[in-house]
Amino acid sequence: MAFCTKYMENLMQRVVANHPAEPEFHQAVKEVLLCMEPVAQKNPKFVDAGIFERIVEPERIIIFRVSWVDDTGKVQVNRGFRVQFNSAIGPYKGGLRFHPSVNLGVIKFLGFEQIFKNSLTGLPMGGGKGGSDFDPKGKSDNEIMRFCQSFMTELAKHIGQDTDVPAGDIGVGAREIGYMYGQYKRLRNEFTGVLTGKGLTYGGSLVRKEATGYGCCYFTAEMLKTRNDSFENKTVVISGSGNVAIYAAEKAMALGAKVVAMSDSNGYIHDPEGIDIDLMKQIKEVDRKRIYEYVKVRTAATYTEGCRGIWQIPCDIALPCATQNELHGEDAKVLIENGIKAVAEGANMPCTPEAVDLFLSHKILFGPGKAANAGGVATSGLEMSQNSMRYNWSFEEVDAKLQDIMKDIHASARRAATEYGDADNYVLGANIAGFLKVADAMYMQGV
Ligand code: GLU
Repeated sequence: MAFCTKYMENLMQRVVANHPAEPEFHQAVKEVLLCMEPVAQKNPKFVDAGIFERIVEPERIIIFRVSWVDDTGKVQVNRGFRVQFNSAIGPYKGGLRFHPSVNLGVIKFLGFEQIFKNSLTGLPMGGGKGGSDFDPKGKSDNEIMRFCQSFMTELAKHIGQDTDVPAGDIGVGAREIGYMYGQYKRLRNEFTGVLTGKGLTYGGSLVRKEATGYGCCYFTAEMLKTRNDSFENKTVVISGSGNVAIYAAEKAMALGAKVVAMSDSNGYIHDPEGIDIDLMKQIKEVDRKRIYEYVKVRTAATYTEGCRGIWQIPCDIALPCATQNELHGEDAKVLIENGIKAVAEGANMPCTPEAVDLFLSHKILFGPGKAANAGGVATSGLEMSQNSMRYNWSFEEVDAKLQDIMKDIHASARRAATEYGDADNYVLGANIAGFLKVADAMYMQGV
């Protein structure tokens, strides 16, 4: 897709020049700015107030050294990041990613996405993201703990329940949140809702673990409903086998679908009879092992090395829940040839721009991550509310609120998309609906 106006094209050029060698960030910004051309035309006051120029520049970036001692006594050094992108509508909010691929550009792209996603939830949360190039794979519990403590020793200076509230992302789950929370409490002598995704015994919310995956299915169900369709009897392929993928699979099955494939960063399993979700949870959540263990127990299933082959498996619904740019244009072509009906991004930006364009031009229902995976951060917002109230809602109460939020996100994305010309274009709708609330707040708060 190309820009129609010089204004947005120039702005995009400035972003590339000011943030060199950050391809993921450029990709995320370009997708949003492309959708902003009609918005700028309809709202010249946002142009006059420099909202577009301001929204693509993080408010604050923190980069820090994280030193820790491994089990052999050797000193290791990693780099930590926190990008506090936009606080117009609430405290910075967004996860922490621990993965060797993490660099400033990746964290900026994620923080930028978070602004619009958090706005879409309707809850008062600004956008932020952080993480480290630390690789948790193969590390002992003690190494993970020492790393998390060192990471939080610096991060604690920059966050707070009304300032910036991190959570998990790839490589950061309940265990890591626990270690970081413990360290924050030790340093500040303060029992507070400074992190979300906490354990249930110390301020966590029911449904937070399940929320991104469940929310992704609730959003997909809403899209399907617009075509009088549902998950019932559908074949689903889900990439990934982390928190998002596992609970997307669980919910898709509960809604009547058969999930036939899942993956990790080494390969994928195909189980034509339908994934055994309890076995998957045992392997990934309890044993923390690789996905090929699955076929040792379920001998009817097959394991294949490599990740993108998973999109060759014929299915009605595809839920990419692994990582950015994992589903390419060629994969989209195969999915379309095989009769795909809906695609929803459980991960952040898993589909390349070429893949997204193909889905949209073939009128495939496509739920962009900002909308489709917003259930996780929405439930983090509900965790913050419960912490502030010193109260806990039941599983059913939180799940009902999550469902309402996902329905509202779908409705507001569809409304904005319709107003701007194409009801079925949830990319346009999510970007515009997410943007307008933040832009309005920035406008009212002055320069
Ligand atoms: N990492 C998740 C996301 O990408 C959740 C963030 C949060 O709960 O703050 O939205």
